[in-house]
Amino acid sequence: MAEEPKETKPGFQNPVAGFGVTFRAMFKKRLTEQYPEQKKTTAPRFHGRHQLNRHPDGLEKCVGCELCAWACPADAIYVEGADNTDEERYSPGERYGRVYQINYARCILCGLCIEACPTRALTMTNEFELADSSRANLIYTKEQLLAGLEEGMVDTPHALYPGADEQDYYRGLVTEAAPGTERQVAVSKGERPAGASSAAEGQGADT
Ligand code: SF4
Ligand code: SF4
Repeated sequence: MAEEPKETKPGFQNPVAGFGVTFRAMFKKRLTEQYPEQKKTTAPRFHGRHQLNRHPDGLEKCVGCELCAWACPADAIYVEGADNTDEERYSPGERYGRVYQINYARCILCGLCIEACPTRALTMTNEFELADSSRANLIYTKEQLLAGLEEGMVDTPHALYPGADEQDYYRGLVTEAAPGTERQVAVSKGERPAGASSAAEGQGADT
């Protein structure tokens, strides 16, 4: 026959003991975070939203090699590389990342992709506010991930620093865009050289 459990306190004292727990908690330090009004500072090496970095003259560091995509355990990265030309150059070497997407509905922010990147093109920022109600909005494009322009940079596409080669960029010898560097026409993105558009429109108006 099972032994009856021993009652340690008289029955009427149990509710009072319960309130004692509540009473003690009232004087403890509050752990509630007032997010989003007060945002917590993240650790310096926090794994947040990714960023595609640029060289100091504005050319892109990504060479479209897809190593980040192969390293990703969640299959969250999609890359399409393409060839640079002298007329439309995005990175110092042969290839650049023409299409670059990260799907944040899949990404677990593990950081394996940034470890795999051979050019340090891909790093992670401290930004953590990535929630969205739309799956489509969670697919970040290259335009969203590409770092902004800093002082001394010119937006891509543009020519290599005169006299410099790809190695010089990685040796840190190029520290800013050469004086007079101008953005080239991104023909692969559907842009047309100045003057070409008006001529084409003029032709269209005649027909
Ligand atoms: S952080 Fe991890 S899961 Fe996210 S894209 Fe990089 S490798 Fe994939
Ligand atoms: S981000 Fe790095 S690893 Fe990924 S395609 Fe570009 S260069 Fe290669």
